Amino acid sequence: MTENLSENKNNPSSTNFIENIINEDLKLNKNNNKVHTRFPPEPNGYLHIGHAKSICLNFGIAESYQGLCNLRFDDTNPSKEDVEYVESIQEDVKWLGFSWEDRLFYASDYFEKLYLYAVQLIRDDKAYVDDLSPEEIRQYRGTLTEPGKNSPYRDRSSEENLDLFQKMRSGEYPDGAKVLRAKIDMTSPNINMRDPILYRIMRAHHHRTGDEWCIYPMYDYAHPISDAIEGITHSICTLEFEDHRPLYNWLIDSLIGKIKDFKSRPLQIEFARLNLTNTVMSKRKLRELVEEGHVKGWDDPRMPTISGLRRRGYTPDAIKDFCERIGVAKSNSTVDVALLEHCIREDLNAKAPRVMAVLRPLKVIIENYPEGKVEELEAENNPENPGMGTRKMPFSRVIYIEQDDFMEEPPKKFFRLAPGNEVRLKHAYIIKCEQVIKDEKTGEVIELRCSYDPTTKSGEDTSGKKVKGTLHWVSVQHALKAEVRLYDYLFIEQQETIEDEEKTMVLNPKSLEKLTSYIEPSLINSRSSQRFQFMRNGYFCVDRDSDQDKLVFNRIVSLRDTWSKIKKT
Ligand code: ATP
Ligand code: MG
Repeated sequence: MTENLSENKNNPSSTNFIENIINEDLKLNKNNNKVHTRFPPEPNGYLHIGHAKSICLNFGIAESYQGLCNLRFDDTNPSKEDVEYVESIQEDVKWLGFSWEDRLFYASDYFEKLYLYAVQLIRDDKAYVDDLSPEEIRQYRGTLTEPGKNSPYRDRSSEENLDLFQKMRSGEYPDGAKVLRAKIDMTSPNINMRDPILYRIMRAHHHRTGDEWCIYPMYDYAHPISDAIEGITHSICTLEFEDHRPLYNWLIDSLIGKIKDFKSRPLQIEFARLNLTNTVMSKRKLRELVEEGHVKGWDDPRMPTISGLRRRGYTPDAIKDFCERIGVAKSNSTVDVALLEHCIREDLNAKAPRVMAVLRPLKVIIENYPEGKVEELEAENNPENPGMGTRKMPFSRVIYIEQDDFMEEPPKKFFRLAPGNEVRLKHAYIIKCEQVIKDEKTGEVIELRCSYDPTTKSGEDTSGKKVKGTLHWVSVQHALKAEVRLYDYLFIEQQETIEDEEKTMVLNPKSLEKLTSYIEPSLINSRSSQRFQFMRNGYFCVDRDSDQDKLVFNRIVSLRDTWSKIKKT
């Protein structure tokens, strides 16, 4: 098929600047009309929601242009990498719903080739072995305002460099004793072009190549070459690499005529990374949270990692919707986490069954309801989605309601329960509070005595009574006891100061609250990662700690949508 692929995405209002670049390339028939992207994580931590943006972008572009997207582990720095991360990254990409098919690659697959390309650069007098110490290299590099100076080792002959580089590889020098550098321009205004390091000596065990290598390529060297070997047409990365693009192009241009297995001349395109309020988003900082014990692992439901969001109860659809809505831009900004929360509410609104759970129970005895009597009341599973059907809710003489739903001395507009007040119990009857029982010592309300009106049964109400409040409840004798985990943001964000735009982040000491709660009995067989709306309390997900003996729920998000408010103002 030789259709013009740019037509798939040629409506300017719905294309982003990356798609505009691709459309132009397709019009000019660059890359034989093909689009091939890659997602290149470094396996030194778990993926976070920022990576999800990059995944959606790279795999999404491949999908919409009928192209391909590779998964490539950028495993050039063995000191921080681990197979645990390699596995979790694959799991996360799959969970989001993307497939690299048979194109799973590792930069370490190319170590031998990368070495040969370096030899080629040396032959062409475009790279040299430098004996300066790391500190000296830094001093020679100059600054943003001062040019650098040439290393005294810069003019070694190709023969000498080839010999030294070979000896670097065979382990004749200690770590850090020598490096291979590109020979570009020590006076370039772009510091990345001042003879950047291509290889360093580092005796570190690599999770794939073991102890085969004691020299490792730098990211800036390995990345463009890996792209070209794989036939990547559009190499999409975050903005901090913008100043590295001249080096990317220099390497490709230096090698492209010489090396037969370059399948493309890739174009690097940069976009703004995602930042979110109330959390941190670098793997280094996330690792600190794990290692210092502030959270219970990479998949702690408070973490912005994909595995944390998954465990918390987020759906792939909500995360993809979020990534779609934030779009791609050329300048950095911070997205309000309320938008992410809005996306999961939108997704679950019609999907999650609505059930009743009392998070902080207060016992209510309905004195005129016959002892031992149980009624099975009909309850709809989701009014937004009638196709989800109904279930039975057992009702009996002793129930729990939410502590918050009762006030002894209520303010004016309190429509819940108070002495002498009437409220409706959802799917059941109207009850009236007759008496308040308190703990003699503490004065705390421990029980309410109520009466019910048998003519007010939900769906069959003949009383003509109008009440303002409707409460959720569970029958004490039928309810399931559960541990409910409520989460708040990991970080409290301090006000931006005017002089420095930096926000100070303070760990929130109350980011996790565990409650003993009571859940309606229909959830007896709920399985890990099943999601529900607990009426009036939010969306919840069965945690993987949940088992036959103990039900455990995570609150994904409350029902209060702060994003809608932000949008209106
Ligand atoms: P971090 O700084 O969080 O450790 P990284 O850039 O070092 O991230 P990589 O594993 O190198 O992590 O990232 C893989 C890909 O994901 C890269 O293309 C990178 O640009 C992209 N990426 C990383 N963080 C974000 C983010 N916050 N928003 C968008 N894309 C991101
Ligand atoms: Mg990185």
